[in-house]
Formats: sequence, structure tokens, C-alpha cells
Amino acid sequence: MVGTFYQPKSVYIDTDVLRSLPESELQGGLAEVIKYGVIADQEFFHFLRQHRQDIFSLQEEIISQMIARCCEIKARVVEQDEREGGLRRILNFGHTIGHAVEAASNFQIIHGLAVAIGMCAAADLAVRTGLLGKDEAREIRDLIAAYGMPTTIPPELGREEIKKFLLTDKKTVGGRVFFVLPTGIGEVVVTDQVRPADVDAVLNSD
Ligand SMILES: [Zn+2]
Repeated sequence: MVGTFYQPKSVYIDTDVLRSLPESELQGGLAEVIKYGVIADQEFFHFLRQHRQDIFSLQEEIISQMIARCCEIKARVVEQDEREGGLRRILNFGHTIGHAVEAASNFQIIHGLAVAIGMCAAADLAVRTGLLGKDEAREIRDLIAAYGMPTTIPPELGREEIKKFLLTDKKTVGGRVFFVLPTGIGEVVVTDQVRPADVDAVLNSD
């Protein structure tokens, strides 16, 4: 509640907590970490590719660097948002379709893994919309897969159900669904100019 109105002076994070988590929760958190690379920092994206094993074995120094980088990116986005407005929507990358998948699975797919699926879907949608090259979309998908996360919507989830959740998402305004789409690794745009046929194609591809 306090954080809604006041920015923190410092952030303390106890990395030992990570050791207490089941692997799936750790992976879920790492999906959000990959998100930061895609939305804002190509170098960090490469760092994640390079240090995957150290990250999974919770190697202290690498984990601290990784978390600090995520906090820096988030702080920068939120600070800029206070001045310009709207920028923080980029933090929603992977969450538009991700939330719909999470809800359609009746929350059987944990949040972070639904976001992993959502990021791959957003990358696909960006390719279809002409914003992103196929090779870069593949790079995003490959990193997510390398972290052992799902990259496609499970076939048993109803596509109509997912669409229904997309249209009732709290961030959907008057039937306009806003997507955060990558235009490169480390760069995204927020747009509602997406053809419904492309959304359908992405939801139905595998
Ligand atoms: Zn999230």
C-alpha cells in the first residue's frame, strides 16, 4: 500500500529465499527476469543466455548481479513513467496473453510460466505484425526454452476461453486489447493496432 504512493529509498532482497523455492517457482520468477532483458536490455538478455547454469545453481554473485539489474530496469521505467506517463505498461510484456492463459488454465499454470508462454506469443504476434524479425523472435523463444519454460499454449486450453479472458482483462479498454510487442531484443512498443486475425493465428499456432 505504501509503495503505491511513495517510492522506496532502498530495496533489500534476501537471495537465500530462492533456495527455499520449488524449481517451478524459481522458473516462474526467471520468466519475469527474461522479460526485463527483452523489454529493455539486450546485454542483459545475453548475460542470461551465458550464465544460465550459474543462475540455476544460484551462484551468489551472478544471482545478485541479475536481481540488481532487474531492479535497476524497473526503477528506471517507473521513474520515467512518473514524468512521461504510460511507459510502465512495457512491464506488462508477456502478461496480456499470459494472464489469459493463466486464467483459462484455472490457475493450474503458475503466473511466471504463463508469462513465458505469453512472451513467446507476443514475439510471434510481433513477427506477424511486421515489427520483429523471425530470427529475433526465435532468440527469445530459444532462451525461454533453454530455461526449461513452456513456449506454446497447451493444446488442451480452449482458444475461445483464452480470447474471452483477453477481452475482459482489466487492462483492456473498451474492447481494445493493448499488446506490448518487441521490435528487437531490448526494445518494445505498446500497441492496440493488431489485426484480430493475427491474434487468432497466434493463439492457434503451436
Ligand atoms: Zn508478472
